[in-house]
This record gives sequence, structure tokens and C-alpha cells, in this order.
Amino acid sequence: MNAQRDYDALVSQGLKLDLTRGKPSPRQLALSDAMLTLPSSYVARNGMDGRNYGDLQGLAELRELFGPLLQAPAEQLVVGGNSSLAIMHDTVVHALLGGVPGGAERWVEAGEITFLCPVPGYDRHFTICERFGIKMVAVPMTAGGPDMDVVERLAASDAGVKGMWCVPKYSNPSGISYSAETVRRLASMRTAAPDFRIFWDNAYAVHHLTGTHDEIADILALCAEHGNPDRAFVFGSTSKVTWAGSGVSFFGGSPANVEWFLHQTSKQSIGPDKVNQLRHVEFLRDADGVAAHMRAHAAIVRPKFEVVDRILAKELADVATWTSPRGGYFIALEVPHARRVVELAKAAGIALTPAGATHPYREDPDDRFIRIAPTFPGLEDLEQAMRGLVVCARLAAS
Ligand code: PMP
Repeated sequence: MNAQRDYDALVSQGLKLDLTRGKPSPRQLALSDAMLTLPSSYVARNGMDGRNYGDLQGLAELRELFGPLLQAPAEQLVVGGNSSLAIMHDTVVHALLGGVPGGAERWVEAGEITFLCPVPGYDRHFTICERFGIKMVAVPMTAGGPDMDVVERLAASDAGVKGMWCVPKYSNPSGISYSAETVRRLASMRTAAPDFRIFWDNAYAVHHLTGTHDEIADILALCAEHGNPDRAFVFGSTSKVTWAGSGVSFFGGSPANVEWFLHQTSKQSIGPDKVNQLRHVEFLRDADGVAAHMRAHAAIVRPKFEVVDRILAKELADVATWTSPRGGYFIALEVPHARRVVELAKAAGIALTPAGATHPYREDPDDRFIRIAPTFPGLEDLEQAMRGLVVCARLAAS
């Protein structure tokens, strides 16, 4: 059997390659190395000493820079530490233990609570729910975002449905961006829970790979327009703009949500790292500075997406389908017997994100999705890993 023979030859190569996590490559990180000598001053625009405690909301100059990029007015943004995931985690905890504006009770007292989870989705969102016993219900993705007929039905049917995870632009892992109609329906739909929250994780807001930029509708403005001003919590970070381990993160929302968030976090911290905030303002400067920086990222990342697309198109088009995103960090591959493919790849020294990770409880009912993260390896390693993946997929399908 050719497939078996090809696989045996692959194993005999003794590869050690990793396509698991969406990390920036060292070349991408080096784009921000000028930050090592910044900021040139620790004094903020308002005269504040950035080295000291204070300014829980974060520096206005940084909020003004990122407000338009995250579609949130600067006064409705809060700057956090390096991880937006940490903010999302803590926001869930605050909701559980303290309730949210508009809610009659704390979420821990609300009986069984449920989050809607578009699939394929981001495994670390699902882990947060799992950790706190929040039930997850999968919602299929369409080309324009989550299937809104399903979302509207579920959100309206049960007051225990309190939340929904959304990665609205260049979604992890499909690369899909939500259509204007999807965003409008999310903002305007009837929810049984008065304290329903959309966790709008705009992690890839500025991460375009081509000259054709996906743009999404303004969730905060639409929620306000439709009489649901407190419905969305917005999140973002510079993890994949500057340095994944040393960036800045953001929380955005309605004035009531921002006040609530600051009230919660004021018990956690006397103020964020403003030296890093100053460093980011000085390095990125303005929206044009961010755009130019992201073009430099794209010049490194785009050829990697092209390698994946080229190899899949040439070798796997008869058994698989996959996405060809215009931005973000991932490609979603749909292939028969995904678990088997990942096992075979592992045995051949190619690490892939576990099959099922794209679904709540790691249960992909059709065993089809594999998330490909092409950014970290060099082009040669990526090409080798993709060729190996093809061999594994062919054997699993045979
Ligand atoms: N959200 C999404 C959708 C992501 O893909 C990632 C990184 N993989 C994160 C959040 C993590 O963000 P941060 O580094 O700001 O915690």
C-alpha cells in the first residue's frame, strides 16, 4: 500500500516539528526589538510618573491609540497586563462571584449557566468554562460567523444562557470574519437572560495578511443602538503585534461595564505596568504606525499561509477542505479521521494541536477538524511538516 509505505518512510526520517500553538516566530518578535530601549521617558502625557502606582484604567494616550482599532471609545477601554486571556478569565470570575450590571443575581447563584461556543473555536475559551463548570453548547460556524438562527433560538430559550464566546475577526481557528448582518443580529437579538454577555475576543483586529482587509461591524455601537448597551465585553491585546509575553491587553465595554470592571479590578491591583504602556505608545505611535508594523508581520507570515495552502491544494484536495484566511494565525483543516491523523503525525515526530481541541469538551462529533498554526516554524520546517501531515491524512483516509 502506497500510503503505508509513504508513512513508514516519513517515520524513518525521525522528524521533530511543531505546528501546535499560534506563536509569533523569532523573526516576528525581532520586529519589535526597538522596544528594548524604550520608553525614553517615564513621564506620561498627563505628567504622571509611569514608574509609580496608579491609573488603574491605563494611560489615555494608549487607549486613544487602540480605541479605534478595537472599535471602543478610549474612555470605554481599560488597559491590562500582557494577557487578554487573563482578563477574560477574571471577567468570568467577577461575573460568577459578583454578578454583572443588569443581572438580578451573581452567576454562581443562577443555577446551571451556559455559554454558546461557535465551533470550531479557541480551546482556551472552552478551558475557562470547563474550569468553572459552565456548560458549553456548540454552535456551528457559517461563512459569515456563527449560525445566527441557532444562536437566537438558544439565547431566547433559556435564562441560564448567560454568555457567548466570539472571535469576530480572522477567527481562531477558521479565519472567518463575522458579517455585518451577524453582528447586527448578535447586538439586537432577544435574550432570556437580562445579563447575557458576548465575550467579543477581537484578538486579531489588526492582523491582516493581504491588502484586502476584513472589517467587522461595531458591536458596542450596535448594542447601544438596539437598546442592549451592556451586552458586549470587548477584549484584545498586542500579544501578536509586539511581544506575546510582554504586550498590553484591553477590556472594553459600555460605561456601566467599564465602571463595573474597574470596581472589580480595583480590589486586585493598585495599577498596571505603565512603563510598558509608554513603551508601546512610543514604539507604535499611531494607527499608521500599527498598520506599518502589521504589514511587516504579514510579509513574514503570509508566505507561510501560502505554503500550507499550496501543499494542501496539490496533495489533499480530494479528501480534505480547509480555510484560506486573509488574516489571523490559523487555518482550519477538515479531514476524515482527524484524531487518527494527529496520532500518526505525533508518531512521526510532527506535533499538531490535539484533534477535538476546536470543540467544547474536546468532542468534535464528526472527528474532522485540525487546527494548523503555521506562524512559528521556519518556511522549510513548515513545508516538511505539511508534507508529513499530508502523508498522515492519506494513510488515515485509506
Ligand atoms: N484570544 C484568541 C482568539 C487567541 O487566539 C489568543 C492567542 N492564541 C488569545 C486570545 C491569547 O491572547 P493573550 O496573549 O492576550 O492572552
